[in-house]
Amino acid sequence: MDWENTRALVGPLHANCLVAKVRNIEECQETIRYARINKLSICPRGGGYSYGDAILNHKNLLLDTSRMNRVISLDEASGQVILQPGAMLIDVQKLALPHKLVLASVPSEPTITVAGAAAANVNGKDGWRIGNFGDQVIQIKLMIASGETICASRSENSDVFFAVIGGLGLLGVIVELTLQLRRIPSIFIHVSRHHAPNLSALLTKLKEVKARSDHAVVWLDSFATGHKMGRGVIHSTHWLEDSGEEDLGHSIARSMQRLDSRRAHAAALAPVVSRIVSLMMNFQSLSVGLFNKLYFRYCEIRTRLGSADNDESIVRYSFDASFMIPSAAAVCGPHGYTIQLTVPDTEALDAISEMLRVCQDSPCYPAKLIMRLHRHDDHIVSFCEDGYSLNFEFHPKKRQIVKMKEFADKLIEITIKHGGKVHLAKDHILSRSQFQRLYPRYIEFLEIKQRLDPDELFQSELYRRLLREGTAATAGESAGENLWKGQAAAG
Ligand SMILES: Cc1cc2nc3c(=O)[nH]c(=O)nc-3n(C[C@H](O)[C@H](O)[C@H](O)COP(=O)(O)OP(=O)(O)OC[C@H]3O[C@@H](n4cnc5c(N)ncnc54)[C@H](O)[C@@H]3O)c2cc1C
Repeated sequence: MDWENTRALVGPLHANCLVAKVRNIEECQETIRYARINKLSICPRGGGYSYGDAILNHKNLLLDTSRMNRVISLDEASGQVILQPGAMLIDVQKLALPHKLVLASVPSEPTITVAGAAAANVNGKDGWRIGNFGDQVIQIKLMIASGETICASRSENSDVFFAVIGGLGLLGVIVELTLQLRRIPSIFIHVSRHHAPNLSALLTKLKEVKARSDHAVVWLDSFATGHKMGRGVIHSTHWLEDSGEEDLGHSIARSMQRLDSRRAHAAALAPVVSRIVSLMMNFQSLSVGLFNKLYFRYCEIRTRLGSADNDESIVRYSFDASFMIPSAAAVCGPHGYTIQLTVPDTEALDAISEMLRVCQDSPCYPAKLIMRLHRHDDHIVSFCEDGYSLNFEFHPKKRQIVKMKEFADKLIEITIKHGGKVHLAKDHILSRSQFQRLYPRYIEFLEIKQRLDPDELFQSELYRRLLREGTAATAGESAGENLWKGQAAAG
């Protein structure tokens, strides 16, 4: 075990944590014993790709399961795969695709772990059709605070199952998962791009897309105002039938090699890209505004020329964005933050219009704004609704931090008013009272936690910020409301 200065992926938060990289169930049990003897709390960690304070636990333990990464079995007939918690999304795809099976609901970072994806109930680009990651989970084995392992599924310990998915590691350590893979006709998809000149046209187009597509994601021009407000470009797909011409093994190997070479290029270029992005962000209303105009126009021209569509492998479509688009950390900068808000379908036009107007009154517009489509699920702390989510990336300057708090609060209030939610794996700015109004079922969650973990062994900065009664966050620069105060004071 070593002490690590752990940073949240986005923004200023950091914490000094003792990290235990466990390799098996016995080492998980030992870590629990060690924590109890030394009066430390435990926060489980997977790949460490959460944007906020869900994986920070200042002066306490991080139990890292990324080395427990074996595939235990794959049943080709049922499409069910049993995995250790640290298995990575890309490894599951490597195993599944040769059988014309696929893991659905995957975010764009290929090295995210399956336990991290389940604990944060993450979304992919197929959320309205297949649901979030939790909908792919059949069973979990959870090591609870006593060191015992319990099974939970929709039919066994179902309350625990619905709490652990999206429960951000606060009920125990996931030590095994059974996932349902989906059958696909081929590993290729047809990608179509449609541009919509304003929000109302965009939502109308999305209704069509929902009915006939398998994946969809929308880039929104957050700088477009007036009658162009809410204009955007939809990337939607459908699966292609197997042409029988391609050697499946060869195609998969080629896709994986391409991904590896993109990853290597992105890593080599990261320092330069970060510098360019950070320079652009000094003049963001000019640079991002101009980029957005050009990108929208470029997509329009390509559609007119009939070159907007193409066929590509599911590997490329799922994961390329991670290496082709500047990271949220680079876009948000040292004082920035991300926030992903869901709004129900029925409220979408009003809620999104209000949000865009708020952004346009704020000192800094969102530097990046991505929209996704979702369906409702029954997990207790789930941000999924039948509707849409907007993922904002803000890059305020130091002097704008206090002012930006008002605007962030306005966005959250609009979300609450329209019955929406906030994705916790990407959050570090919600206050406790906002959280309680967004997630009234938090009481149910705390009751289950009290039963499984009466001594509050499992904690994180997020837990102390949003859930634990009578405590304040303790991370390096503090979290939530304290984040704003801390940064403003430092400024
Ligand atoms: C480039 C990039 C793109 C992304 N795109 C998306 C996206 O499209 N959609 C989306 O929803 N998210 C997205 N994210 C966020 C990411 O999917 C989530 O933060 C995800 O939870 C990270 O998984 P991880 O393995 O890194 O887990 P971590 O970040 O390490 O942990 C995530 C949560 O899971 C808990 N946890 C981890 N392992 C265990 C375990 N063994 N037992 C119990 N709890 C555990 C942790 O305590 C924490 O609360 C993206 C992130 C990046 C960096």
